Amino acid sequence: MKSVKIENVSKQFGQVYGVKNLNLDIKAGEFFTFLGPSGCGKTTTLRMIAGFYYPTNGHILFDEQDVTRLPPNKRNIGMVFQNYALFPHMTVDENIAFGLQVRKFSKAEIQHKVDRIRGQVHLATYGKRKINELSGGQQQRVALARALVIEPDILLLDEPLSNLDAKLREETRVEIKRIQSELGITTIYVTHDQMEAMAMSDRIMVMENGDIKQIGTPQEIYHRPINRFVANFIGETNLIEGTIEAIDGEDIQVITTNGLIFIGRKQQSSPTFTHMIGDKVFISIRPESIHLGAGDNTLTGKITFVEFTGISVNYIVDFTAFSLKVMIIHSYDQIKSIGEDITINVAYDSLYFLGE
Ligand code: ATP
Repeated sequence: MKSVKIENVSKQFGQVYGVKNLNLDIKAGEFFTFLGPSGCGKTTTLRMIAGFYYPTNGHILFDEQDVTRLPPNKRNIGMVFQNYALFPHMTVDENIAFGLQVRKFSKAEIQHKVDRIRGQVHLATYGKRKINELSGGQQQRVALARALVIEPDILLLDEPLSNLDAKLREETRVEIKRIQSELGITTIYVTHDQMEAMAMSDRIMVMENGDIKQIGTPQEIYHRPINRFVANFIGETNLIEGTIEAIDGEDIQVITTNGLIFIGRKQQSSPTFTHMIGDKVFISIRPESIHLGAGDNTLTGKITFVEFTGISVNYIVDFTAFSLKVMIIHSYDQIKSIGEDITINVAYDSLYFLGE
């Protein structure tokens, strides 16, 4: 396993920047995810790490070795794509063995390596099956085995689960994470699915328009988003616009456009936020941090939407200038109906302040 360093890397396609001035350090053994909406530059970055694109500017290093202009087959990387690109009429073993044959390993060595990796992806007895006789999840594990059997220094995964249905996606996500941590291999994962990114990654890079917006652990990104884009993209959040009306030690008092007051803590705010009286501010409140009844920041509004998901009761509550999504987890209380008034509260520590 190797570390990956990206130094000032840009990739231009004519006038368009795929990515711009990217700087990034991925540690050896880390599970690192590129997350962002379509077109933000995830695949372009991955392709430069793989060697399928060369950067227009900047350098890429594996450990301390500069690989910026090294062709893909000299980089010792394993790759898995969205459409696994397996040979459908060949057996599982023939597919897995492909990269080893290209590298001219002996027959005995190939069989030994293929048997071992097949066990690791939980397909021990499937060696002689044809690919078109396997389920989508099993095919995905063959693709993973084929990438891993060459013992790569770095594993690159580009939306590897998007062809699977929801349940299988969750199962395969657990499998990939298990195999990755057992092997301790440096893994770079591309997805636009924030749940997947949160569940699997050691660290996440959130991208937008070819730029890095934030790099951090799933918890940092979720609880301490740097701006509204990240707060919105990672999980659901309510964003309420207001103005700072007063500051009293650690407490910040914000007034909304319709005159409601919220109180929160100074330390619960994005590092780029300056906290001056009169500043415009966005208050981010996660739906699950809102509770029923009176408490800190008590508000009463009208219910405009209700759904019961089993795990939670979700409401949308209208407060004239804004509405709030409210998620009441494991509630055995009577579920309220559309049109009813509801009183909610938000702990002072659960408000998070973001600037523009
Ligand atoms: P998706 O999730 O849709 O795959 P992405 O985040 O992987 O998106 P990229 O494929 O890296 O995004 O694209 C980043 C930007 O670069 C986009 O504006 C895209 O149109 C542009 N781009 C990517 N590849 C090319 C190319 N070969 N020629 C021209 N423009 C390209």
